[in-house]
This record gives sequence, structure tokens and C-alpha cells, in this order.
Amino acid sequence: MRISVLTLFPEMYSVLNESIIGKALEKELFSVDIHNIRDYSTNKHKKCDDYPFGGGAGMVMTPQPLHDSITAVDPNHEAVRIYLSPKGQTLNQSLVRELASFEHIMLINGSYEGIDERIIELDVDRELSIGDYVLTSGDLASLVVINTVARYIPEVLGSEESTEEESFSQGTLEYPQYTRPQEFMGLKVPDVLLSGNHAEIAKWRRAQSEKITAERRPDLNKKD
Ligand code: SAM
Repeated sequence: MRISVLTLFPEMYSVLNESIIGKALEKELFSVDIHNIRDYSTNKHKKCDDYPFGGGAGMVMTPQPLHDSITAVDPNHEAVRIYLSPKGQTLNQSLVRELASFEHIMLINGSYEGIDERIIELDVDRELSIGDYVLTSGDLASLVVINTVARYIPEVLGSEESTEEESFSQGTLEYPQYTRPQEFMGLKVPDVLLSGNHAEIAKWRRAQSEKITAERRPDLNKKD
């Protein structure tokens, strides 16, 4: 899978070199190519923003550098082009799985007050939000998309980790996890987990999972 990123802040993506994602990129299990939108500005000062027509606070990203960078990186429109936006569809695990099934996605990042609406009309396939709050730019949202999508790419997660039994995978939140020691600060690991009885452990985990989901996210079963 290939993920292309268009941004005014390419340095923000250095975190991709860390941890599980860094290792997966090193092994070329997927690729991320990052493009500075400013490099495509035909303005002599490489300006990429201007005042909004109609007035109002802040600046808006101008269409020319965006359109030229999008078409340079994806000339035949083979990528699914995604604009990160608080007005977009909210990211959830089933959407992450869908994004992971595409060969090439492009993440287009706005800044300032956003981008000229005509770019959305001309060049964007989907708008995606990571939640009901406003970020200063799309880049943290893009990093969330890359991180969550990468977990569904074969071999990115080690065999000890799995996307099958975790929160949201089956419309529920995960059961509580414990590790050594068996007792910590007076708190004991539930007996059933030490019993070696796999059927009983699975039953306990299922029950815990359902209980936590009902208490904290009763909406989940209906959603995901
Ligand atoms: N004026 C816009 C509004 O009220 O909808 C907000 C613009 S925001 C300050 C700048 C950029 O951050 C947006 O163009 C978008 O790319 C990104 N952004 C902000 N919040 C986001 C969110 N919740 N999810 C995804 N991207 C977001």
C-alpha cells in the first residue's frame, strides 16, 4: 500500500520513523511519500494562503498549489484522495479497515481556516474527520489515519498483537488485561485467568467485554 501526504509541515511526519510503524516502513511493508504543498506554489514568495472572500477571520489555502501538488503526485487519479477536515465523516475502525484495503490513498492537509472549496469539488474524493474538535492543521489527523491503517497491513503487527480481538473489532470494547506479578499492591489477578481453563477464560473475557461496552459505549454495537 502507498500513502501520499500533501502538507505544509513535512517535518511533522518524523514520528513515522518510530516504533512499529517505523519498523514496517523500514521493511517496506507499505510506503509513505510526503510532499510539501509550498514547493508547488507559483507565487514568487511561495505563498499558499490568502484572505477569505466575504471577509472573516484568518486565511484560506489558495487552490493553485493544492491542485498542482495533487495532480503532480496522482496524475491519473488512481489514489483515493482524502481531505482531512472537521466537516468530514468521522473515522472509526470499520472505516480504517476500508482505507487499508485501498492500494493508494492520498491525505490532503489543510491549515489556517481550511482550503478553497473548489479544491474539494475538483480534486477530493472524501472528507475525513478524526473527531468533533478543531486541530490547527490536518497533519495530526493524517498521522492518526496512517497509524491506524498501517495496523491492518499484513505483517505490520507482530504475531503477539492482533487486530482481531481488540476494542472495536467486534463492536465491543476489550476485556481487562493482566500480566505478572499475580498480586500487585494488594490487588490480585482474577482466579479464572490463572486456571488454565481456556473455555472458562474465553467466557470470562466475553462477559467482561460485554459489561464494559454496555457501561461505557452502549452505542457501539449499533455503530461498528
Ligand atoms: N475553519 C475550519 C472549520 O471551522 O471547519 C477549521 C480549519 S482548521 C483550523 C485547519 C485544518 O485542520 C483543516 O483545514 C483540516 O485540514 C484540519 N482539521 C482540523 N480539525 C480536524 C479534524 N477534527 N479532523 C481532521 N482534520 C482536521
